[in-house]
Amino acid sequence: MIKAVRGTRDLLPPDSDLWNRVEGKVRNLFARYNYHEIRTPVFEDTSLFSRSVGEETDIVSKEMFTWEDRARAQSEKAQSLTLRPENTAGVVRAYIEHGLYKTGTLQKLYYIGPQFRRERPQKGRYRQFYQIGAEIIGPPSAGSESPARDAEVLEMLATLLDEVGLKGWQLQLNSVGCAEDRARYNKALREALQPVVHQMCADCQRRAETNPLRVLDCKVPEDQPIIEKLPKIGEYLDEPCRQHFAAVRAMLDAVGVPHSINERMVRGLDYYTRTTFEFTHGGLGAQSAVLGGGRYDGLSESLEGPKAPGIGFAIGEDRLVLALQSQGEPPRESVQAYIAPLGAGMGLHALNLARELRRAGVTADLGDESFRLKRSFELAEKAGAKYIVIVGENEVASGQFAVKDLSSGEQVSVPRAELTRQLAK
Ligand code: ATP
Ligand code: MG
Repeated sequence: MIKAVRGTRDLLPPDSDLWNRVEGKVRNLFARYNYHEIRTPVFEDTSLFSRSVGEETDIVSKEMFTWEDRARAQSEKAQSLTLRPENTAGVVRAYIEHGLYKTGTLQKLYYIGPQFRRERPQKGRYRQFYQIGAEIIGPPSAGSESPARDAEVLEMLATLLDEVGLKGWQLQLNSVGCAEDRARYNKALREALQPVVHQMCADCQRRAETNPLRVLDCKVPEDQPIIEKLPKIGEYLDEPCRQHFAAVRAMLDAVGVPHSINERMVRGLDYYTRTTFEFTHGGLGAQSAVLGGGRYDGLSESLEGPKAPGIGFAIGEDRLVLALQSQGEPPRESVQAYIAPLGAGMGLHALNLARELRRAGVTADLGDESFRLKRSFELAEKAGAKYIVIVGENEVASGQFAVKDLSSGEQVSVPRAELTRQLAK
């Protein structure tokens, strides 16, 4: 028997109902914040990711699904392609490719879709997973560099998590400074690592040479005490970066978004500058990050685009749904009415009633005239229906229908013309 590939999942009802409810709420929220959807391809030129996310990151060095796409004609060259491991690079590529910067305004773009990373599958970690993300990007003259954008994005995320119903989230913030700050910090790290790096894992020994900042991403337990003693990036920020970060925090305080500082959080992608953040949730176990994001002021230029500072985030939708389930979020909206035809010829009347209800916005499920009364009740119960309406010969003849509340057992008699109005309540 052929099964779904390890690390991939089928999303089935009723779970898929919860996914859709989350996506519906999120789309509604994005619209209110004036974000618009962008859909980029699920695969891209490999170099897009190596140049933006960075060669030394876990994502590019070991997690990408990459293949050589053979040339189809002699005039064509083979091309290295990669399933997108994240979506910011694709969005910024599209921003440059379509000249969106020419508008001179801020682009506020969101996406919802699958991402792919070759990771060890476990709870909250899959090889095909879904992200809901957004980016604000534009020329500095449009205000893209301002700390107000950071605060606006973080305030939106706090509202988003509240609106989807996540309780007890925590926001951790850090600043990774600008390129010059990081050059100084990397130098300090290299010096601090020199006497201790031989005690660390093989990855850290390599990172200490190539990109010392990435040592902070290390998850090997034995390396943690060493990492804790390394210099902190906060001490290496220049004055403008320090002020930018202070302004972001002051605005968050002013709008009442609680947050804490985590100086070790440098995030596993090279394009981040200044503000970086993660929202975590206790219901997720080891994979506690529901979402991550940050500012990427030099990303556009590194992809040969114009200066276009930006900030964005990606929510792990799988983890968001897991967190909601861990707090007992019901998977599906209940069916309001189960219409149960009883006896030959009643299916037609039931179909008409169901059609009327559904067109009036009532969620209705329809039985079958061949079912006995007992079976109809069982199926109504299984469907989670609030009410059952029996459509039998007597009801049709008298024009009076019994509407039974399945949880209380209460029953009322409703004239045919009043049924839709009654059930729409
Ligand atoms: P982690 O430290 O958990 O590996 P990350 O830093 O690699 O996360 P990002 O690249 O920042 O993750 O992606 C943003 C969000 O996407 C994460 O916070 C997480 O919720 C989600 N995510 C990342 N990788 C996976 C995965 N393999 N499976 C499910 N969700 C994921
Ligand atoms: Mg990861």
